[in-house]
Order: sequence, then structure tokens, then C-alpha cells
Amino acid sequence: MKKTNVVPEEQPTRVRTWYGLPAEIVIGEDLWHRVSTGGLAYPHPGLVNQHLRQGLPRQERKRLTYWHELGHLETFPLTILHGLLIWRTWRERQDTPWYLRLIIGLLALMAGWEATAELYTMVRAGPDYARLYRHARPKLPMLPLFWAAMGGLASAGTLWMLSGRRERGV
Ligand SMILES: [Zn+2]
Repeated sequence: MKKTNVVPEEQPTRVRTWYGLPAEIVIGEDLWHRVSTGGLAYPHPGLVNQHLRQGLPRQERKRLTYWHELGHLETFPLTILHGLLIWRTWRERQDTPWYLRLIIGLLALMAGWEATAELYTMVRAGPDYARLYRHARPKLPMLPLFWAAMGGLASAGTLWMLSGRRERGV
């Protein structure tokens, strides 16, 4: 039988964001992460990380995943600003059913948050980031796919919401 690497439950890492929010981050084995702030836990499947870290050594995968999760916390204020920007255009888009506005707005918001979390990861990893992906085996086009999808969703969705304003302004 194949020996499986059973890793005992990881110890949470305690962090404090630059805006003072205390949080705990646990990176599990591939399938899930848990981020908690003030007793509120947000366990979530690591979908983005799982796909994005394919082909990287296990330890590096965990390190980048940890920074990505921390990046979500550290860039949260930016996401709030992005959300406010989208929210302000809400009424200007009354030509579109509310549920479509909601879906497009949320998609743009979440995609933008993924992009800023990964930018944070790139800054923390520095030149290591490019080196790791150059040596990834198997080499998969995960990074271009990620940036095309997240960048596309975030900018297209946001521009679409904002263009409602401009049309009205003329
Ligand atoms: Zn993410």
C-alpha cells in the first residue's frame, strides 16, 4: 500500500494585519485553509491555490499559499474600496436586472480580491516567485490562466458597472 504523508493538524499562525486586525491562518493539506478573525472562522476550499500551485515543491506550495491567504487579509481594505466603487454605480445600472448586477458586481469584486492577494504573494516571494514557476514540473499555464481570468473578470465587471454612469452623464 502506498505510504501516505499524514501530517498532523497544523498549528495556526497568528498574525496582525497592518490595519490592526488580529487573525489566525491554518493551511491544511491542499484541500482547505482556515482563516479566522476574532473567533469567526472562514474555512474554505483552496480552489485558487490548489490550481495555481501545481507543479511546485510541497513546502513552497504551502509557503505561497500562506502568503496568498495573508494577502487576502492585508488587501481587504482595497477590496472594500473596490466594493464601494461598484456599489456607487448600482442605481445607474437600472437597465439591467438587479440579480445580473449583483452577480457581475460580486464576480468583479472576488476576482479583484484574488488578484490583489496573489500580487501580495508575488511581492513577498520576490524573485523566488518567478524562479519557482520556471522550475515547476509539470509546467502548466496556471499563472497566465489565473491572470487572464481574474484580471479579465475584475476589470471587465468593474468597467461595465462604471460605464452605466457615463452613459447617463451624457
Ligand atoms: Zn484566494
